[in-house]
Amino acid sequence: MSEQQNSRPAALVTGGGRGIGRAICLELAKAGFDVCINYAASSAAAEQTAEECKAFGVQAVALQADVTNPAECQTLVDTAAKTFGRLDVLVNNAGVNADKLILRMQEADFDKVIDTNLKGAFFCSKAACKLMMRQRYGRIINLSSVVGLHGNAGQSNYAASKAGLIGLTKSLAKEFAARGVTVNAVAPGFIETDMTAAMPEAAKTAALAAVPAGRIGAPAEVAHAVAFLASEEAAYITGQVLCVDGGMGM
Ligand code: NAP
Repeated sequence: MSEQQNSRPAALVTGGGRGIGRAICLELAKAGFDVCINYAASSAAAEQTAEECKAFGVQAVALQADVTNPAECQTLVDTAAKTFGRLDVLVNNAGVNADKLILRMQEADFDKVIDTNLKGAFFCSKAACKLMMRQRYGRIINLSSVVGLHGNAGQSNYAASKAGLIGLTKSLAKEFAARGVTVNAVAPGFIETDMTAAMPEAAKTAALAAVPAGRIGAPAEVAHAVAFLASEEAAYITGQVLCVDGGMGM
């Protein structure tokens, strides 16, 4: 796709091909955003998500980049901005887990999760904020977790990454507030995706028992909250953590 000036707002969603990221891409497309769908490995899923976004009458492209790589994050943000002539929204959604009790957790398990979930958001935000501050408008939304607020046995690496994202969110919110750029976090609870499908049955049962709403959440329910924070109407909300968890984190 060639470079162009566009009147529609544009969004970049990391890890947008599947799960919660896919639902966010579709919700933003429905709200009238052109969407860049980042993926690391799942090219077919990302292309499929792009086609589904286009059905809402917007433009959409799938862009490969590994968010653990700072140079790839810079190129991803530059390509997204160039493709649609602007970049209004960055959603740092790409995430992994490597659950183990700390006695069994290797340094590599810790690094992989921090590098993807926390450093990936740092690299993408650093690249995007230059554009956003220059245009004096932007929305950055980070996917944290109820686990980042409350911790969880067997997820010390994941919880540290998600708590770190909250610190990143609040700090960047303070750095950018005067430039019209808001930074918020959404903290999902127990949501039905590939990530939770891979949990052991006992862990799923325990997670479900901790949800006052009594059911697992749908990716679209997280996406609605992200789309609100991505909207112009959310201009006076920054540095916040919005839990979408059926009451799990109360
Ligand atoms: P998921 O189904 O496992 O999908 C993970 C996504 O992250 C995929 O699109 C994947 O893309 C992408 N990704 C992973 N490593 C990447 C990398 N190095 N570079 C770029 N993309 C990468 O997970 P999900 O459940 O939708 O979770 C989405 C976000 O919500 C994550 O940050 C997760 O921690 C958070 N969250 C989920 C839940 C839940 O209950 N599901 C709860 C709280 C928070 P590829 O397939 O291309 O690798």
